Amino acid sequence: APITVAIDGPSGSGKSSVSKAVARTLGVAYLDTGAMYRALAWWALDRGLDLTDQAAVARAAHDLPLEIGTDPDDVTVRVDGTDVTEAIRQTRISSQVSAVATNLDVRAELRRRQRELIEQARHDHGGVVAEGRDITTVVAPDAEHRILVTASEEARLARRSTELHGGAGAELLAATRDQIVRRDRDDSTVSAFFVPADGVVGIDTSELSFEESVQAVLDVVQA
Ligand code: C5P
Repeated sequence: APITVAIDGPSGSGKSSVSKAVARTLGVAYLDTGAMYRALAWWALDRGLDLTDQAAVARAAHDLPLEIGTDPDDVTVRVDGTDVTEAIRQTRISSQVSAVATNLDVRAELRRRQRELIEQARHDHGGVVAEGRDITTVVAPDAEHRILVTASEEARLARRSTELHGGAGAELLAATRDQIVRRDRDDSTVSAFFVPADGVVGIDTSELSFEESVQAVLDVVQA
């Protein structure tokens, strides 16, 4: 029977790399919902939209010509044929993505697409690991497995710093802290307080290595 593994967590929790590895191990598809919000932010900026113009950004969400790879080994993201896989990771996008993600019409449209992609992956690939901020609660509350991946602020900071700047020295940590704190605050209406909802299993990865984190998720799924 097909399975959906819904995984939520804040940035720096390690949820993306962990989710991808879990999908690979289970032999199912992988859906990075954050990449969809990022792709919309990229496209809206590319078209010169003012991200605070709610109606214009909502229209862009409906029109967004998005293709997102759901193979854990090929997560290419294309907008209107342009490969934006790398571009959507830029600080320029990370710092502005919350503006599109807090737009309720945008959320309705992207959630609709996410549910469609999840259904398709269940049908075509026997299941999917879908990760984001609202997957366990809103996008896929009926998922067979629902997990909230958390980590202490220090651990998240160190991981993001290494990811973004290639190290976790004092200066790099300070720069990263500013970015993380700002985005968490900007996202606060979409991600509530990272407390597991009813029936959602919390996994704190602060003290876990990458491999241990992957195993902890697999333990939940295979229990
Ligand atoms: O996971 P990632 O950091 O790439 O997500 C980028 C942004 O997309 C988040 O900061 C948040 O604003 C938004 N997002 C969301 N709901 C999701 C996934 C991501 O609002 N399910």
